[in-house]
Amino acid sequence: MSNRKVEIRSRIMRSVRSTNTGPERRVREILSGMGYRYRLHCPSLPGKPDVSISSIRKVIFVHGCFWHQHPRCSKGRRPKSNLRYWSPKLRRNVKRDRNSVRLLKRMGWDVLIVWQCELKKSDRLHAKLQKFLNRKALSKRRAANSASA
Ligand SMILES: [Zn+2]
Repeated sequence: MSNRKVEIRSRIMRSVRSTNTGPERRVREILSGMGYRYRLHCPSLPGKPDVSISSIRKVIFVHGCFWHQHPRCSKGRRPKSNLRYWSPKLRRNVKRDRNSVRLLKRMGWDVLIVWQCELKKSDRLHAKLQKFLNRKALSKRRAANSASA
C-alpha cells in the first residue's frame, strides 16, 4: 500500500473507533474522575459490557436508544416502515440484552444501563453513576450467608 493509502486508511480506522467509543466517553470520564479503574468490552463477560469494574464487580452498558429499544423514549420507538426488516432485529437485540443482564447477575455482577439520551444531562448522569457505584451489591448467596450469620 502507498503511504497515501495507508494514511487514508488509518484516518478511516480512527474515525470508526472514535464513533464506536463516543457514547461511552462521558461515562468513562466520570469514572476516571472518581478514580475507578475499568475495562472496556471485556470479552469474557456476557454481552461484553461497555465498562466493567472488577474491583467492585459492577458493569455498565451504554445503550443506543434505538438499537436497544429504550422504553418510553422517543428515540426508542419502532420505525414505521420496513417493519418486517426491523422488528426481528430489534427484538433480537432486546432479548440478547435481557439475557446478558440475567447471566451477569447470576455471576454476581451488579448491572447498570445508561441510555444514550441520558448522556447529555451531565449532572443527572453523574448522580446516577454515583448511586450505582455506591450501592452494595450482594449476590443472592452472599446475602443469604450474611443473613444467617
Ligand atoms: Zn432514550
